[in-house]
Amino acid sequence: MKSVLISIALITIYLSGYSQNNALLKYPFSLPTLKYTYNALEPYIDKETMDIHYNKHHAAYVNNLNAAIKGTDMENKSLSELFTKMSKYPAAVRNNGGGVYNHNLFWEILINPGDTIIPDILKKAIEKDLGGMAKFKTDFENAAKSRFGSGWAWLSVDSKGALFVSSTPNQDNPLMDVADKKGIPILGLDVWEHAYYLKYQNKRPDYISAFWKIINWKKVEENYIEAIKK
Ligand code: MN
Repeated sequence: MKSVLISIALITIYLSGYSQNNALLKYPFSLPTLKYTYNALEPYIDKETMDIHYNKHHAAYVNNLNAAIKGTDMENKSLSELFTKMSKYPAAVRNNGGGVYNHNLFWEILINPGDTIIPDILKKAIEKDLGGMAKFKTDFENAAKSRFGSGWAWLSVDSKGALFVSSTPNQDNPLMDVADKKGIPILGLDVWEHAYYLKYQNKRPDYISAFWKIINWKKVEENYIEAIKK
């Protein structure tokens, strides 16, 4: 009886840890529920940008991905499976599948006010793998600023469990076989103009600076702990 209860408890923990992502990572895809209001990230990200970004851009990726997958053998595959063989699938699945996954992650790692203290396990990993917080910040900002056109900057975990910083074009991400540097993203910054243009216009660096004020480091650390298990 005791072992049954322990099993149930473990399954419950497992499912709750995966509740948001797993439910969303299979066809038919749906928009995740935002855990905050559209104005919650002000003044760093304005209400109108959040509303349009979530209800128009993210929703379009969800709808277009479902349309691209409907009636094909991709219906039974998870997004993660599709990403590992991304180069074999249509561009619509790459662009919209990335769009769905990347935005799900992005909304999850934002909070206002952001955490001022980085939890210990993650902090030690940043020190060990990335040369400390100051260097990580500079490298991440450079990745975000130097991405020409549209794309993302990432903090990810590689196959050996080490953190690395990278950027990808368009809606690609480090999980895809097409990525230069492959790994599991734990933090991402959307540098498409749709993410900042209404408030920051051409001043992408100001938007990148503001990002540091609204990071949910507790969630990033949770993502890190999940990622190093794999
Ligand atoms: Mn976006």
